[in-house]
Amino acid sequence: MTHDVVLIPGDGIGPEITRAMQRVVQAAGVDITWHEFEAGAGVIDRYGTPLPAHAIDAIRSVGVAIKGPITTPVGTGFRSVNVELRRTFDLYSCVRPCLSMPGDGSRYQDVDLVIIRENTEDLYAGIEFPATDPGASELRCLVREQTGAVIREDAAISIKPISVWGSERILTYAFEYARRHNRSKVTAVHKANIMKATDGLYLDVARSVAKRYPDIEFDDKIVDAACMGLVMHPEDFDVLVLPNLYGDIVSDLSAGLVGGLGMAPGGNIGENCAIFEATHGSAPDIASQNIANPTAEILSACMLLDHLGEDAAADSIRRAIRTALDAGTHVTADVKRALTGSTEGAAGTDEFTDAVIAAL
Ligand code: NAD
Repeated sequence: MTHDVVLIPGDGIGPEITRAMQRVVQAAGVDITWHEFEAGAGVIDRYGTPLPAHAIDAIRSVGVAIKGPITTPVGTGFRSVNVELRRTFDLYSCVRPCLSMPGDGSRYQDVDLVIIRENTEDLYAGIEFPATDPGASELRCLVREQTGAVIREDAAISIKPISVWGSERILTYAFEYARRHNRSKVTAVHKANIMKATDGLYLDVARSVAKRYPDIEFDDKIVDAACMGLVMHPEDFDVLVLPNLYGDIVSDLSAGLVGGLGMAPGGNIGENCAIFEATHGSAPDIASQNIANPTAEILSACMLLDHLGEDAAADSIRRAIRTALDAGTHVTADVKRALTGSTEGAAGTDEFTDAVIAAL
């Protein structure tokens, strides 16, 4: 069966690692028609936007995409293409499995956890008021009237919306994910001891959703304690489900438990659309040098293949990556450095990809 998939190679190391990913998927024998589109700073002159309408239309019609990272200017310039995609397709769930691989260069050996991050609400909803904005003064007055609390005149304000609806759908997604993937425990992560209204609501919803899944163990952890637990005993965790901000931070922390950003895949999932991509950014410092680690992007393609029902191909690619890493002879500079303290003898992106294909 042929699958249609939209491919956005991105910029920086994006084109190198997505090319590696395509080679591996093809070698695994999966028949995919790739519909390729450019996005990011490089297309603004041509289309007046970093995310052209024809790319959006293609994703809408195909329903599934994989992308490379796209550079976002800091502070000024255009809004992140990733944020725009999440918003356009209401990709409310960001799924990041973190699984130890032999020879991944990590300090840990038996990590097997999944971070599920809510993608649309929380302090990341983008509702912000600079200190001098009239909206900030109105909010200062409202807060003083309603609570007596004084917000300084020079304070900028961000709003943290956490809804019952948004919490219920991400928590339900997490429990359904646990069931589908034979996972035994879901941990809801929050700061409800301090943020009683927002995180308190999230925790209440978590407890009530958990009751619908008696076959899955449920517990909750305060985010700071969860971070310490993850660093000390990552093997105690299974599926973690978090509001947006904590989810963002904890997913990078968890990537660090399995060898770093070059090893961590991800998927942004909505009701009608799924977009897969590595956790890391466009790594401009190492772009176009054939030294980037394509593992995270290839593992993201494995998630894509699972999504398409090509589980057998996904599993053989994962096994091939394990074999290539375990052999240790053709690993990229990031892994080599983690293993030996030096990048000497490291393989390039293409060479590592060849090793994965040979193992397939
Ligand atoms: P980054 O992830 O690009 O790089 C951080 C460090 O990790 C760098 O030293 C880089 O060389 C290294 N690294 C990252 N991926 C690697 C790989 N596959 N192999 C080997 N080393 C790797 O983070 P950054 O520098 O903060 O961000 C660069 C740009 O990427 C920014 O413009 C940012 O907005 C963007 N970004 C995009 C996405 C996305 O498209 N999904 C995600 C995060 C950041």
